[in-house]
Parts: sequence; C-alpha cells; structure tokens
Amino acid sequence: MSATSELRERIPASLRREILDDVCAYCGHPFATEVDHVVPLSRGGTYDRDNLVAACKRCNAEKLDFTPEEWQTWRAERGAAWPPMSPWDAWARLDLTEAEKDAVLAAHADRSPAGAAVLDAMSAYATAAHAGLPTLAAEAALHAAVANLTGETS
Ligand SMILES: [Zn+2]
Repeated sequence: MSATSELRERIPASLRREILDDVCAYCGHPFATEVDHVVPLSRGGTYDRDNLVAACKRCNAEKLDFTPEEWQTWRAERGAAWPPMSPWDAWARLDLTEAEKDAVLAAHADRSPAGAAVLDAMSAYATAAHAGLPTLAAEAALHAAVANLTGETS
C-alpha cells in the first residue's frame, strides 16, 4: 500500500478538510495542501490529531522524515531562515510598485504567456526565498517579467 493511500485511509475526509483549513504550520502559506505528521511515522509519530498539521508542498517536500527540530537544524546548517519564508512574506519583501503589484495580481487571472511568465518568476523568487538562497537574480527576473507584462520599458 502506498503512503498516500494509507494516509487517505487513516485520516477521515472531514478531519483532513479541518486540518487543511489551517495555513501551513511551518511557513504560514495560506494554501496548505498536504497533511504532515509533525513527528514522522518513521520516527514513532502517530495519527493522533495533535501530531497532524497542515503543510504547504514546499515545506512538506523539504521536511521529509525530519522532526521539526532536526529540520530547523538542517536549515540552519545551510544558512536558510527559520521559520521558512512563505510566498507572501517573500512578496512583502519585494520592492514592487503598486502598479507592479496590480500587474502580478492581474496575472493570476491572465492566461497570456506574459502573465504566466510573471507567475513563474514569482514562484522562482518564492522558492529561492523559502530555501534561504540569494534572491537578487530571481527578483530581477520578476521585475523584468512584470515590465514585459505591463509594457513598461523602464
Ligand atoms: Zn510551508
């Protein structure tokens, strides 16, 4: 039995929905899509409600079989921030003008290649920020994609 089907079996849909109503327990990402065992099953964790939290894809993929303490140490050894930075914190740190912010938000509804490029650049920036990697190049790419979207040449 795969881990995923086992997870579905052990966590009733109603409880799963209740957990996923929360933001990511680790970075605060508003769109948590995965249920994480705080203490991993492989480390003696259980399916008890207090061992289950909502997690975003990025956090869950990085945490793997770490306990939160081990994960924090692992990140610290790599110079990565704790807690991990959510896309929205990354967004808040960006030096975007109001017009640029409007353009990025509009890009969510815009299926044009320029809009998709902005979202890709935003995602790349958030991934770098989340990992604690340098973000200057990603930020420059985002500004360029936004400028392309808004038709500005500055
Ligand atoms: Zn997260």
